[in-house]
Amino acid sequence: MIESEGLTKRYGDKLAVDGLTFTVRPGIVTGFLGPNGAGKSTTMRMMLDLDHPTSGQVRIDGRHYRQLSDPLKHIGALLDAKAVHGGRSAFNHLLCLAQSNGIPRARVHEVLDTVGLTAVAGKRSSGFSLGMGQRLGIAAALLGDPEILMFDEPVNGLDPEGIHWIRNLMKGLAAQGRTVFVSSHLMSEMALTAEHLIVI
Ligand code: ADP
Ligand code: MG
Repeated sequence: MIESEGLTKRYGDKLAVDGLTFTVRPGIVTGFLGPNGAGKSTTMRMMLDLDHPTSGQVRIDGRHYRQLSDPLKHIGALLDAKAVHGGRSAFNHLLCLAQSNGIPRARVHEVLDTVGLTAVAGKRSSGFSLGMGQRLGIAAALLGDPEILMFDEPVNGLDPEGIHWIRNLMKGLAAQGRTVFVSSHLMSEMALTAEHLIVI
């Protein structure tokens, strides 16, 4: 469960997020819909303590992100698929994350399999297509087997097969009882994926 209360972010004169109060519940896909610049990514960054609210707060299972003992085991996120060390192979990228978060090596193989990257796991991610990069980002989000998953515009730039795959993945994760929070600026995409919508 994610609970946001009066969440507000100001960058100088610019009000990026304006008093957002909402709850994201487990077992369904919750869509976070709004046009470009509405404050979706900023809200998600604040959930992960990558940015500080000007006022208000956001809680992950009742706690602030920084109070979570093993954050990757509580919440997994795909924010920016390009935020990867390009010289590292997909396998090594995930292994670094696993080892610094107390996650067993075997889990790296599992998530590579889940996202369909096993065959290219030894290749440098700098050579990956946009879709492969998204899959690698999703593998990282799944690594800690978290109950809460967050995806920022995951279908952007994907081909129809990739879009179809991500939709089914999100629905499957929700069906397992997990909390799934996904942003998009596309109403049509959210109509197909989300059971609950938060519109900003
Ligand atoms: P969305 O993800 O919905 O497209 P963002 O959260 O990226 O929206 O941005 C919301 C607003 O905040 C935009 O006007 C953006 O230009 C501004 N903004 C985002 N991050 C920063 C930042 N680090 N410094 C200044 N302004 C920012
Ligand atoms: Mg954004």
